[in-house]
Amino acid sequence: MHTIDLRSDTVTQPTAAMRGAMFEAEVGDDVYGEDPTVNALQQRLADDLGFEAALFVPTGTQSNLLALMAHCERGDEYLVGMEAHTYKFEGGGAAVLGSIQPQPIVQDADGSLPLDKLAAAIKPVDPHFARTRLLALENTWHGRVLPPAYLQAAHDFARERGLGLHLDGARLFNAAVASGVPAREIARHFDSVSVCLSKGLGAPVGSVLVGSSALIDRARRWRKVTGGGWRQAGSLAAAGLHALDHHVARLADDHRRAAYLAGRLRAIAGIDLLGQFTNMVFVDVPAQRLRELDLHLRAASIRISIGYLPTLRLVTHLDIDDDGIERTVEAFARFFG
Ligand SMILES: *Cc1c(COP(=O)(O)O)cnc(C)c1O
Repeated sequence: MHTIDLRSDTVTQPTAAMRGAMFEAEVGDDVYGEDPTVNALQQRLADDLGFEAALFVPTGTQSNLLALMAHCERGDEYLVGMEAHTYKFEGGGAAVLGSIQPQPIVQDADGSLPLDKLAAAIKPVDPHFARTRLLALENTWHGRVLPPAYLQAAHDFARERGLGLHLDGARLFNAAVASGVPAREIARHFDSVSVCLSKGLGAPVGSVLVGSSALIDRARRWRKVTGGGWRQAGSLAAAGLHALDHHVARLADDHRRAAYLAGRLRAIAGIDLLGQFTNMVFVDVPAQRLRELDLHLRAASIRISIGYLPTLRLVTHLDIDDDGIERTVEAFARFFG
């Protein structure tokens, strides 16, 4: 029986058409800037998102790290959500490798960082303090789309306070599709944006950082320093280009399936459905039943991730179809029934 993997949207297999595009890709040495497919991908995302330049990197973690190191210097500080990926799930890289101090701020339930808390966290210019230089936001955050009015307010705040503004847009296209706007409408508020190709877009590898030419030059230098300079990476870039051409609009299917799954789970007695946002469904399962639920679902060839977040997160993606959702609902109903 084919496995339904709801752990993350990172688990997708490249489609046959994507593998074809990868096979056909023209490649060159990207450290010399000579990979035509990498260059095309970078140009494509810079143009689409309204920036001067872009840099293709292996992971979202590296993309965010390079952005932080391009915005900040040793002894600088960035403001970031307490539950943001950059702060919590990237090994503390900004501090470890960039000597950049994080100032975490508790997020509101919608993922926004309250401007009054940000204002209170900015340090005076004084040798006692790190220099507050950057504000980093995340969109989507746990599937939630940041309100457009908040993006504008955060932009104005950052400008007023002389801060750079970075977006961890690992799922920027989910936010754009869910809002019915082009991704550049979200990206335009920021000085730099990191986008993952390997999440909902379904490429096997890769993220892209966009920003000004000067910022991307600094990021390219740090990419080399951190061991991320790659050579004939065009086959991977071809997967990214294919994803941008074919897998953006279909994110709406993932959102529709997540909403449908949430509706069906909500109707099952004993399930505490916490919410559904874009391609993510959150369910509260009593901690002592999680392992038992995991074993039950495994027996039905359904994978969930337990013990990583306090609640159960089910993620829809390219490799989950309507039938997979039905099988999931049935398996949950049998467990709780
Ligand atoms: C996955 C993810 C990243 C990091 O991407 P990797 O490619 O796994 O390093 C960054 N931010 C968010 C919000 C993510 O979901």
